[in-house]
Amino acid sequence: MTWPAVDALKQQIPLLEYLQSQNWKPVRRISRGRLMGLCPLHAEQQPSFLVDPAKNLFYCYGCGRGGDLIRFVELYFAVGFRDAMTLLRSPNRESLLKDVVSFYQIQLHRHPEAAHYLLSRGLQQPQIIEELAIGYAPGRCLRPWLTTLGYSLSDLQQAGLANTAGYDTFSQRVVFPLEANLYGRSIVNAPAHRFLPGAKGGLYAWGRVKQSPEVILVEGLFDLAALWQAGFRNATCAIGSHLNAQQFQQLCDGVSRTVYLAFDSDVNGSGQQAALQLSRRLLKEGVTVLRVELPDGHDPNSFFARGREGRQFQRLLEEAVP
Ligand SMILES: [Zn+2]
Repeated sequence: MTWPAVDALKQQIPLLEYLQSQNWKPVRRISRGRLMGLCPLHAEQQPSFLVDPAKNLFYCYGCGRGGDLIRFVELYFAVGFRDAMTLLRSPNRESLLKDVVSFYQIQLHRHPEAAHYLLSRGLQQPQIIEELAIGYAPGRCLRPWLTTLGYSLSDLQQAGLANTAGYDTFSQRVVFPLEANLYGRSIVNAPAHRFLPGAKGGLYAWGRVKQSPEVILVEGLFDLAALWQAGFRNATCAIGSHLNAQQFQQLCDGVSRTVYLAFDSDVNGSGQQAALQLSRRLLKEGVTVLRVELPDGHDPNSFFARGREGRQFQRLLEEAVP
């Protein structure tokens, strides 16, 4: 990528406007038109994040990080330079993804193997599948469809939907739409997980879930689907056991609530280890956090898929440990 392209992009998107689009609000104005607010990159109570709209630069006195728009996007979404540029450059990504999601939703009903896979994971309620907008990517048919809608191959390649040879990158995958990305779960012998290039975004459905006095945080989207299906609509998902800065910040928004960590109970203990570390970090930020202990070898999805019921999960919540 050439430097003029970077400069043009920074001119197109002023840093302050971008921050505001991510819900950042200045707390006070200081000299020379500069602004102070809470740092979006680390949890804090006192504003130490300085923005200079004239210079398009930021600096945080709390975590010591600073730079320009692209640096901010890199840190905020935990991505590299190239992905940060892709995130910033694609103004039509949103409408493109919307079209992709509707197409995949139609495919789900045309491919019994996909519905069968969902059933094998215990997902059978049509209204949950509809609500989560779950779809299916058969492979080899997205590109022709999007071409008829007027998208170019380079649009698709830039979004990561087509590879350099022009083929669909998502093939034989059950697809969950995220805020600004897609998560694809393979139903065959391919690498299990796949995202489009770019950030995984914030916590799943956080805007809805954050109102609850109790929030259940799980690792995977199938865990979330199982919990929603069992009536636990206060479940959210980090898509992995490692939270990005945005997701961590969301849990530390100063609202009083209890966060239950219902991570996988893996044989190697990695899920519980991640939950323990996260609970310590959250505790430091004053968040009330409890860890749910699932039976060995289970995640919330398999817990329900094996025929257990809501009241049994409810008991696990009641027995959760700090
Ligand atoms: Zn900071």
